[in-house]
Amino acid sequence: YHEQLQQSERLKMIAHLTAAVAHEIRNPVTVVRGFLQLYREDPAFDDPVKNKFKLMIDELNTVEQITSQFLTLSKPNRDQKPEKVDVNDALQSVTGLVRSYAMLSDNQMHIEAEEGCFIFINPIEFKQLLMNLIKNALEASNMGTPVTVIAKRNQHYIEIKIIDEGSGMSEDEVKSLGTPFYSLKSNGTGLGLMICFNIVEKYDGEIHYDSKKGVGTTVTIRFLATEGK
Ligand code: ADP
Ligand code: MG
Repeated sequence: YHEQLQQSERLKMIAHLTAAVAHEIRNPVTVVRGFLQLYREDPAFDDPVKNKFKLMIDELNTVEQITSQFLTLSKPNRDQKPEKVDVNDALQSVTGLVRSYAMLSDNQMHIEAEEGCFIFINPIEFKQLLMNLIKNALEASNMGTPVTVIAKRNQHYIEIKIIDEGSGMSEDEVKSLGTPFYSLKSNGTGLGLMICFNIVEKYDGEIHYDSKKGVGTTVTIRFLATEGK
């Protein structure tokens, strides 16, 4: 338990530090991007040059995306009040967002959500959690394999499983999950699961990985159920 506490203090420190750095990076990026956007409209430049401006703007958008991911780590707790959330609704809204992403690599998404599953949680954080786990499942998936999400009530708990038939992980890899900046992807930040683990911990939930290299991964999250209307 002591070790867990230390770990969460360390995560908080890293979160504050990275948020501060992200904030400082963001302002100059916005300024530079603003100029590039002006030059793109400027007839003084010809098309090949303008195409390069476009590339630069795209790259800056990536920087922006990454920094905003850092910033969400240490958003103040206001605006993050828990409420009774319908798991089915949250899942529909998240899968609506990632569906086009899944289509790119021809991965079918199957959602099997039981009616009447409610959790007392902040809806934005809950969606952030689902989104990160589903995105990881899709990113690990081979072309054309399905990603399945199952939500059901199990006695006093709501259990959500996200199942992929992707790369899978070794035991050591599973142990590293949630460590800040741990990522095996060329364009990964290694922050997604750190955020997820924080959210799960904050609402006294559980997260468990069951994975086999070359076969796939099942991640299970569990929260205390709240009674329906
Ligand atoms: P990122 O997605 O930016 O790499 P994450 O914190 O979301 O960061 O994930 C960390 C790492 O955990 C990933 O780079 C990947 O190696 C591994 N991982 C997470 N989910 C899965 C999964 N479903 N299947 C295989 N590997 C996974
Ligand atoms: Mg991720």
